[in-house]
Amino acid sequence: MQTFRSLGLSELLLAGVLDAGYTTPTPIQTQAIPLVLAGRDLVGSAQTGTGKTAAFVLPLLDRLAADEPSRSVRALIVTPTRELALQVEASVRAYGAATPLRSLAILGGVSIRPQLQRLARGVDIVVATPGRLIDHLQRGSIDLSRVDVLVLDEADRMLDMGFIRDIRKIVKATPASRQTLLFSATMPTAVRSLARDILSDPEYVDIGHSRTPAETVVQRVCAVPSNRKMNLLYHVLEHEPVHHVLVFSRTKRRADRVKKKLVKRGFAAEVMHSDRSQRQRQRALHGFRNGRVKVLVATDIAARGIDVDGISHVINFDTPRQPADYIHRIGRTGRAEAFGEAITFVTKDERTYLRRIERHTGSRLIRKAYEGLTV
Ligand code: AMP
Repeated sequence: MQTFRSLGLSELLLAGVLDAGYTTPTPIQTQAIPLVLAGRDLVGSAQTGTGKTAAFVLPLLDRLAADEPSRSVRALIVTPTRELALQVEASVRAYGAATPLRSLAILGGVSIRPQLQRLARGVDIVVATPGRLIDHLQRGSIDLSRVDVLVLDEADRMLDMGFIRDIRKIVKATPASRQTLLFSATMPTAVRSLARDILSDPEYVDIGHSRTPAETVVQRVCAVPSNRKMNLLYHVLEHEPVHHVLVFSRTKRRADRVKKKLVKRGFAAEVMHSDRSQRQRQRALHGFRNGRVKVLVATDIAARGIDVDGISHVINFDTPRQPADYIHRIGRTGRAEAFGEAITFVTKDERTYLRRIERHTGSRLIRKAYEGLTV
């Protein structure tokens, strides 16, 4: 069996791994770490929950730590959302605690001044969302000309969110000689063509089935009339062994409404969407992580960066319209070694989305009935 040591990581990083409590590398780590250490470009087809963050953060830190600290930006990690940027940066700090490397999260929604000050003092690793990073590039407050390693995380989602032009601008600001790593849960044409343009002779690492959701998630579908969705949600929350639940709704307004009703019914519920301030989102996420909040209602984009262990259930209050969203959503449960359950509510109008999902995953999801609630 492979160990982190046998993958070629140095003592400094093995200390970080030990601190994190990991004993065995996950499949993507086993495959990606030696390639990244060897300086190869990489396309990683992997969902969240597979351990992909450590798969690129560990070898990246290892490569940087081997050189003298220069306090210029030598690694840049670009993520679609603020939450994900914060989480990846926290991983960088945790795994790299024994190294002298300094990291900084650059994201929008917060004051730019502290970022300017930190940049002026010098950082080695930047984890950024595209919008704010472009802002810094335009101000001339960040210099990417010394980037050795560029990582695009969740590339499919960044393209979905319309960041393609920003991404290309950012890539252009880095040296052509850099090492580039691109991770994506799905590999649509747009991602492939970006990979073709910006990677050089890449290795491909595909964690099992990039198109089918994690095998650790039991997936069920409930056919429900739209006016009974709320009652079905109460029923599931009150009668199933659910303790830590993420509920997805199609729009922000629906998310607000669902959360309000849940609170009225006595549930410790919170809501997460892009109209909430960064502080509100952080507070909701913190409560969810420490267990104070049992039910977190979210929209797709806001939920993108939610990296919380021990989510027992993902409930799709609305059927996601895109199979990729479905896969991302249910990837929030059954993470690493744990098991989870995903329940998708489907009204008559949403059946076409369900068919799309089933075509994409190549499997027919299990139908589950609740007397008096489902049809
Ligand atoms: P990710 O796919 O990067 O979002 O990671 C999913 C979860 O797995 C995170 O909570 C990590 O802390 C955890 N994790 C990553 N690598 C390992 C490992 N080798 N052993 C156990 N847990 C891990």
